[in-house]
Amino acid sequence: MGKFAHFESAAIHGGFTNGVDAGTGSVNVPIYQTSTFKQAGINMSPLWEYSRSGNPTRAALETLMAELENGEVGLACASGMAAIDTVLHLFSAGDTVLTGDNVYGGTYRILNNVYAQLGIKTTAVDVSDFEKLDKAFTLETKAIIIESPTNPLLTVNDISKISEIAHRHGAIVVVDNTFMTPYLQKPLDLGADIVVHSATKYLGGHSDIIGGIVVAKTAKLGEKLHYYQNSVGNILQPFDSFLLIRSIKTLPVRMDRHVENAKVMAAALRVHPAVDKVFYPDTGGIVTFELKEGMDVSIFFKSLKLITLAESLGGIESLVCHPASMTHASIPKEVREPLGITERLIRLSVGIEHSDDILADLTQAADTAKRYSEGDTYVI
Ligand code: PLP
Repeated sequence: MGKFAHFESAAIHGGFTNGVDAGTGSVNVPIYQTSTFKQAGINMSPLWEYSRSGNPTRAALETLMAELENGEVGLACASGMAAIDTVLHLFSAGDTVLTGDNVYGGTYRILNNVYAQLGIKTTAVDVSDFEKLDKAFTLETKAIIIESPTNPLLTVNDISKISEIAHRHGAIVVVDNTFMTPYLQKPLDLGADIVVHSATKYLGGHSDIIGGIVVAKTAKLGEKLHYYQNSVGNILQPFDSFLLIRSIKTLPVRMDRHVENAKVMAAALRVHPAVDKVFYPDTGGIVTFELKEGMDVSIFFKSLKLITLAESLGGIESLVCHPASMTHASIPKEVREPLGITERLIRLSVGIEHSDDILADLTQAADTAKRYSEGDTYVI
């Protein structure tokens, strides 16, 4: 965490880079809304030259995220998918990438429908079965991409053990840390080589930015990734970089409240008669649950008053989604159903409203779905 002993201090004070704020004393990183920078002469290696290759506002965010994840190089990209795309530029035709068998639908899609066309093969594996995982590596395997906990079933994967196996086979480990954030988990400390984020989620925290982050553990890997970011032009704009820096300052307090509220929701859902299964790994702000057979999920969604049905997660407001038809719709039904992403599965992103209010809405919607399943058609 750079020069700071505690995450909370690093989140507020970290990330300033040489040249930022010089001369004004501004306590916040200014928005350098410029595409280019005046050069004193040719061949003088200016600090800043063109905002695709580097911009002081974006650089402050990139340094901040590298510090918070305990990595060497951070990159701020146009979206979470753009961050993943930057990492996938490391691979060439003939390479294989392993993934966990339960990853975000967009990650599944970019690998199986986009990079597959370029000759990069993807194999999904159960990363909790270490023997099977060990056997899944071939000479062509260049990387393994995992989430922990996974989206949407919140399975916790052993990043240290997976990294140990992958490194034995000469492959790099990429962890999507969107759900945990570096406040709750630092994959690079556990052995991973690259961390990616949908900054759209908890890092942004207010459902008003689309952004992505890559953090590399080593300068060498970071340099390579920056080369691809610059070549492709996969950058976050200065204003969005500023907003993200502002949001990250409150990440620890927001995460504490998300976790506190999520624990309350998980406990209540576990004993609700309309609910069959609850997935909650005892930390984080997401609770996934499955309604009992015979329950109509659309009645549950229609009955919500405070909680909003919407894609995304990690904002201060509680959001709910139906993975089978929304976030994971790009995964074929025959692949997703056996994994447990059923029609009755609901993913709740618990916000930081008063927990009593979230709980009351959740309970009344689940009650309504139950009454409807028992034949009461006047419930909606
Ligand atoms: N990774 C995870 C775990 C996600 O949940 C998402 C989006 O939901 C992404 C990556 C993609 O991020 P974005 O929507 O910012 O492109």
